[in-house]
Amino acid sequence: MITSLMPTYARMPVAFERGEGMYLYDTDGKKYLDFYSGIGVMCLGHSHPVLVKALIDQGQKLWHTANTYRIPLGDKLAQRLVDASFADTVFFTNSGAEAIECAIKMVRKYHYDKGNKGKYRLITMASAFHGRTLAGIAASGQEKLTKGFEPLPDGFDVVPFGDIEAVKAAIGPETGGIMVEPVQGEGGIRSLSDAAMQELRKICDDNGILLVFDEIQCGMGRTGKLFAHEWSGAKPDIMSVAKGIGGGFPLGACLATEDAASGMTVGTHGTTYGGNPLAMAIGNAVLDVMLAPGFLDRVVEMGEMLHGRLAALQQRYSGLITEVRGKGLMAGIQVPSIPTRDIVVDMISRGMLPAVAGDNVVRMLPPLIIEESHIDEAMEKYDAAFAEYEKKAE
Ligand SMILES: *Cc1c(COP(=O)(O)O)cnc(C)c1O
Repeated sequence: MITSLMPTYARMPVAFERGEGMYLYDTDGKKYLDFYSGIGVMCLGHSHPVLVKALIDQGQKLWHTANTYRIPLGDKLAQRLVDASFADTVFFTNSGAEAIECAIKMVRKYHYDKGNKGKYRLITMASAFHGRTLAGIAASGQEKLTKGFEPLPDGFDVVPFGDIEAVKAAIGPETGGIMVEPVQGEGGIRSLSDAAMQELRKICDDNGILLVFDEIQCGMGRTGKLFAHEWSGAKPDIMSVAKGIGGGFPLGACLATEDAASGMTVGTHGTTYGGNPLAMAIGNAVLDVMLAPGFLDRVVEMGEMLHGRLAALQQRYSGLITEVRGKGLMAGIQVPSIPTRDIVVDMISRGMLPAVAGDNVVRMLPPLIIEESHIDEAMEKYDAAFAEYEKKAE
């Protein structure tokens, strides 16, 4: 018999009751070090006082009015994102998938309005994840996401990850843009090199097409810059953001330059919930914390420490850990010889929450408020676990 909750997830055998900072507490009161942040969403940790206050204050005033009316908190949040990024304009959504959908529509409308109706295709990269809408799964080109859901929307050409020559070869008269994650999350914490990012920018400029970055997982301070592409110097025309931007409240955004968004005129796109006052109040509160002087410097510092410690872990267990991946507080260790889910379940029993990613990678997206003591604690738990795995493998 089907469960009352539709059974689309292979859920881990634990349920949480409350969270505080870097820790979650399960229904038996057991404490867990959170190294996943609910897929990078809880970027300021659990129950952050600034976010709780914003939620309560705004919750007592006004939740929703619809975009029929002006929403001053949305004007403010959009302006702050514009001031802090490449973008000139922002569309707010409730999720990452909707931010992707907005980006795809924007690329098509851009070329349509310039008289290039046929330029509707996007080049994307293998093992990408762009959300679960029909367009999002089509863009991923991954059979595990698309199987059984055909026919898929047309217009996506998938090339091998990071293969710039393949990108060049895939460009045709119908190509309207390129869409990539600067650091792939679900696909296995794979980073595009700075050189590849710059190449993509150049290819788009040379061909009059748009560059779209999906920073839903790697953006909002995760790598130590507000947006991951900033490390490379390559700027997009359009960027989708979500997850961390709401610090736990469902919020996404599609950012764009004035030129790229030139087709997004009155009536062309919309949403009921997107950009509502409650979401906007919390989005502003997230930025209050994240843009405070020193916050992102701390993320860089903690990211370097985490990567240094993971590299040492790899050296100690080089027979098991083949690679340390990622940037800043978006990290992964590749362990090909043990099913990733088994490692994650074992770590949960040890009171720590990493997660699964593709390509045999144990994924880490700890809250950005992490401190050295938490990294110490994580490494002690990994050390104990990998010592056992090594013994078993002998
Ligand atoms: C999570 C994610 C999405 C989809 O976001 P939802 O909020 O789940 O719709 C898209 N792209 C990337 C890179 C993601 O990590």
